[in-house]
Amino acid sequence: MRYNKIPDEAVRRLPTYLRGLLSLSEQERKKISSQRLADFLGVNHWQIRKDLSYFGGFGTPGIGYDIEKLIRQIRKILKLNMVRKAALVGVGNLGSAVLRYPGFRIYGFEIAAAFDNNPKKIGRKIGHITVEDVSKLQTLQKRKIDLGIITVPCEAAQETFNKLITAGIKGVLSFSPCYKTGRKKIKVITIDIAMDLSRLSYYIPPSQFVAGQALS
Ligand code: NAD
Repeated sequence: MRYNKIPDEAVRRLPTYLRGLLSLSEQERKKISSQRLADFLGVNHWQIRKDLSYFGGFGTPGIGYDIEKLIRQIRKILKLNMVRKAALVGVGNLGSAVLRYPGFRIYGFEIAAAFDNNPKKIGRKIGHITVEDVSKLQTLQKRKIDLGIITVPCEAAQETFNKLITAGIKGVLSFSPCYKTGRKKIKVITIDIAMDLSRLSYYIPPSQFVAGQALS
């Protein structure tokens, strides 16, 4: 499998397929056609087939997909067939909410450590995680944690990013809406709700009520 030839967009859609398939398996469905899977997910059936074809295709013509098997295959492609450990830096409003979110386990993620530089937060327990001093980031490699989550204010994001890389982190999910210059080998995914809202705004005509309030 030559992962470097696979479009990022196809990889980006795989978790959506996984989430849909998990939901279907909860309904105790065994098999599904690509058309019905597409309808369920609200995407085109050719898109699903094309995306999966990059990884070898997995359906049977005329029958469709075996749901449990496809779940296993997508987990394997996303390397979610093992527990992936992540460390979170910045235990403020957002960081605390992320730490309390129970939904990571379904995908095989464990937030195994959390760090802050505020002495009032260090030692505090959120869920089952005790907040550690950010100076302890160097312990990550030894603890087999290779993913980082950044929830610090923008001005501290680059410094935090650099520290995570030095600590051996291989991939970073950043909620801080600011650009981080990095090393090519480190995968960075930035989540910005405002940016997604901007995309949503493109598709939705403004209501009459706010239409007049144009930005200058
Ligand atoms: P917050 O101020 O409540 O929390 C920030 C935390 O980071 C604090 O606990 C602070 O002590 C800690 N911190 C600051 N500097 C640090 C450093 N150098 N090392 C370690 N810890 C440090 O902020 P918040 O509301 O939780 O927001 C956090 C980040 O998330 C901000 O950058 C914000 O803009 C962003 N945010 C993003 C989205 C999104 O859609 N992605 C939504 C809301 C907030």
